[in-house]
Amino acid sequence: MSDCCSVNESVREAPAVMDCPVSGTRSKRVAALTVKSLVRQLPLEMPKTQYYFCETLGCDAVYFPLDTQAPLFRRGDLTVRVGAKETEDPIPVCYCFGFTQKDIEKEFAETGRSTVANRISAEVKAGNCACEVKNPSGKCCLGSVARVVRNCVRRRER
Ligand SMILES: [Zn+2]
Repeated sequence: MSDCCSVNESVREAPAVMDCPVSGTRSKRVAALTVKSLVRQLPLEMPKTQYYFCETLGCDAVYFPLDTQAPLFRRGDLTVRVGAKETEDPIPVCYCFGFTQKDIEKEFAETGRSTVANRISAEVKAGNCACEVKNPSGKCCLGSVARVVRNCVRRRER
């Protein structure tokens, strides 16, 4: 077995969730590719440890390592704003096509609905999305879009 295989092995054995060392929030694993793509200045060699993504509002830690000897990356270390951690515009929601929370709220205020999810789905179908290298969570943004729309609906019903 080559070295690369044994690394994969250790990554697979990493726990699925870990507590953020800063906020204590349970955080999910994130792919090394995502960390590499979004951290501005990586150490010369990417640490061979599993990283986790903390999405807690108010916590400055974004990516923390399973191996505590490896560096932890904070908001300022990333090339993008982490929407889940921001309370002021612009709050990015979709990183592939650039939709912000405000874009969704504005359309909803004007038309009473949101077409953003459908527009994103169409782009995803066309193969034009790159969440793994653009979204700090490494995941598709449609869940976040749905959450913003739900909040708009809730505010209107009040
Ligand atoms: Zn945290």
